[in-house]
Amino acid sequence: MTEHSPGPVAQVSDLRRRIGGLSLRLRTAGTQIKPAEPRFIDYDKIRLPSGELVGRKKVIVMSGGCSVPTCTMCPFTNFNNYGHDDETSRESLLDQVSRTLTRSEGEPAYEVLSLYNDGSFFAPREIPRNVQVEIARLVAAAGVKRLVVESLPQFVTEQVLGPFVEALEGVRLEIGIGLQSADELVRETLVNTRISQKSFERALSVMAGHGVDPKIYLMVKPPFLSEGEAVSDVVASVDYLTGLGVRGMTLCPTRVSPHTVAWELWQAGQYTPPNLWTVVEAVRLVHERLAVRVACVNLRGSDFESVFPDACPVCADDVVDALMRFGESGDAADLPADCSCRPPLEVTPLDHKVITARAALLLNVLERAGG
Ligand code: SF4
Ligand SMILES: [Zn+2]
Repeated sequence: MTEHSPGPVAQVSDLRRRIGGLSLRLRTAGTQIKPAEPRFIDYDKIRLPSGELVGRKKVIVMSGGCSVPTCTMCPFTNFNNYGHDDETSRESLLDQVSRTLTRSEGEPAYEVLSLYNDGSFFAPREIPRNVQVEIARLVAAAGVKRLVVESLPQFVTEQVLGPFVEALEGVRLEIGIGLQSADELVRETLVNTRISQKSFERALSVMAGHGVDPKIYLMVKPPFLSEGEAVSDVVASVDYLTGLGVRGMTLCPTRVSPHTVAWELWQAGQYTPPNLWTVVEAVRLVHERLAVRVACVNLRGSDFESVFPDACPVCADDVVDALMRFGESGDAADLPADCSCRPPLEVTPLDHKVITARAALLLNVLERAGG
């Protein structure tokens, strides 16, 4: 390093700013406003921590999208009214929720409602406070037993959660938090999500104080990492989570979607989604320490533009099925055995210097290409 070259801290913050800027520039607002109705509705069965199998309705309401859409892999702004946000679309959320909760004839029974808004439920810019509380009242009145929402942790404060939980009148609440990685460089710079360790830990403690269950998501192979580093990242993140007393997490293998930094890297031949066998290895290395599920939407989605984690045509479907079965049973015997396509995997520790230099180089390539 010369006297005038920036130190490692300045280098990382410069990188963070540039990656976040690129991420935002790549996002585009659709040319037409999408109708104010949920963009996804599905019914399935899930196992509660008690072991009971119950019906779930999963709904993604049409929204203006995430208010901090800096993450390098997140495709949600492709699907909602990102860039067309106004008061009307926010107010329509209440209407969408109220219609969601009106039970129609022939609708499958459900006790759990997963209510997602492509962003942070508790961000006031996405859902105003009074609308949040009104939604809680509607959910309580509809006889739902358990509500699942998602949020960045900085929005989960005592001031917000207290009135919300009170309005839920005993409906159990679960909050999904996409921590993605416990490693600060990976999380805040490569994934570029706005989550500090402090805000995450504070949110967990506020939630514990209100009897709210955390649902933590970790990524497998964030952009700029190799397969071997991805596995180390999951293992180290699990060390961190179990140290905090977290008993379960969901793995999200990266899918590559248009209008994201991950997509640009993939187009430039500098990144691929994780091999499915890398996902299996990550599960194998951590499942004895906490309950692990793999988010299936990241393995087989209905969005045909995206590039999904894959293996070979002989084993890919079986590996995905096995991972799904494992998520249900937690039984290691359900994990897939092997396939001749399985590439050698060298689990590599995260070397921040090496990763920072690589990411800076790749970012230069993307910026030169006009991103
Ligand atoms: S915070 Fe969540 S919704 Fe927002 S860009 Fe990141 S992953 Fe997407
Ligand atoms: Zn194979």
